[in-house]
Amino acid sequence: MSIKNNLHKIKSSLPGKVTLIAVTKTRAVDEIKEVIAEGHFDLGENKVQELLAKHPLLPTEVKWHMIGHLQTNKVKQIVPFIHLIHSVDSLKLLKEINKEAGKAGRIVNCLLQIHIAKEETKFGLDFKEAEEIIDSITNFPNVKICGLMGMATNSDNEQLVRNEFKSLKAFFKGLKEKMNSDFNILSMGMSGDYEMAIEEESTMIRVGTAIFGERS
Ligand SMILES: *Cc1c(COP(=O)(O)O)cnc(C)c1O
Repeated sequence: MSIKNNLHKIKSSLPGKVTLIAVTKTRAVDEIKEVIAEGHFDLGENKVQELLAKHPLLPTEVKWHMIGHLQTNKVKQIVPFIHLIHSVDSLKLLKEINKEAGKAGRIVNCLLQIHIAKEETKFGLDFKEAEEIIDSITNFPNVKICGLMGMATNSDNEQLVRNEFKSLKAFFKGLKEKMNSDFNILSMGMSGDYEMAIEEESTMIRVGTAIFGERS
C-alpha cells in the first residue's frame, strides 16, 4: 500500500467528528509531501528539533501538532507557529507556554496530557494534578485548554487498553461539565489502538505507522 492509499483508507473509515493527525516523526520531507498533496494538513511531531527542521520546508497551511514531551526551554521556539500542544504535563510548562505566547501575541491551544498507561516511563498528569491546573487556568490568559490527551499501555490486552480509554473518557466528560465549549478535544488512539479509541469517543487520533509504514 502507498502512503496515499493508507491515508485515504483510514480517513474514509473515520466518523465525521474525528480528526486524524498524521504523525510524521522520523519521516522524510518527501514522504510528508505525499499526505499534503492529498489535502491533509494536520501533522504531528514529538521532538522540537525535528519540528523546527521541517516547519520551514513545508507549506504554511500545515497545522503543526506537538505530541511529545516538551521541555520548558524549548517552548519559545515553537510558540509562534504551533497549532496545538498535546503534551502539557506540568504547571511549570503551562506557565512557560503562557509567558511565551504573551510575548508572541498569541493564544496557544493546549491539551493536558493525562497518564493512563501502566508503563512508568510515559509522561503525564494524574487526574488530581490536571484538576488543579484547570482550577488555576484564569491565571494564564494566553493559553486555551482545549481538552485532554492520553496514551494507553502498549499491550495486546484489549481489555486493559479499553479500560484506560474509558477512564480518560469519563474524566474528560466530567471536566467538560465545568468548562466552556472550547474544551472539546479528546486526543487518544494511535496506529495499534485508534479503532478502539474511537469506540470510546476519541475526537482526535495520532497515527504514524499505519500511514507511513514501520519506522526504522
Ligand atoms: C509516535 C507517536 C504516535 C504515533 O504512533 P504510531 O504507532 O506510529 O501510530 C502517537 N502519539 C505519540 C505521542 C507518538 O509519539
